[in-house]
Amino acid sequence: MPEQDHVATWTELLDGVNCPLCGPQPAVNDYKFTIAALSISTLYLARDQRFRGYCYLIFDPYHATDLAQLPADEYGAFLHDLRRAGNALRSVFQPDHMNYECLGNGGPHLHWHLFPRYRTDPRWGQPVWAGWLNRVTLDAREYHEMVERIRAALTTFS
Ligand SMILES: [Zn+2]
Repeated sequence: MPEQDHVATWTELLDGVNCPLCGPQPAVNDYKFTIAALSISTLYLARDQRFRGYCYLIFDPYHATDLAQLPADEYGAFLHDLRRAGNALRSVFQPDHMNYECLGNGGPHLHWHLFPRYRTDPRWGQPVWAGWLNRVTLDAREYHEMVERIRAALTTFS
């Protein structure tokens, strides 16, 4: 079967076969812009900005698929990075609330979705995933400014 026709099984996804989140990530791709490497994970700004400030935090050292499998020191470091990233996003975007989601249903490599939530957002009071919302993209300058502001904010939180 040609590579492009093969849909990975759940076992292959758990095993990290062709995992797109393993190893060095491009600075920019269709999904994300690199913001900064933190202690054990890297923070990215999502290209899809349906929720202003939406970011991903991806676990870096190896292919891991469940928070419960991490040794205590790595678990602590990952959560520390999550708090630091959340504080930076709160500082930059002044949201009314923050959502932190660790799902991995389509690709189980450990990563968090960080969604700043606003009283004015289209899913206020509900999960972000409730119903379809069109992808929202910005122009290059706006992404660049957001990345720079988040980077600057990260320096103020340890
Ligand atoms: Zn992986």
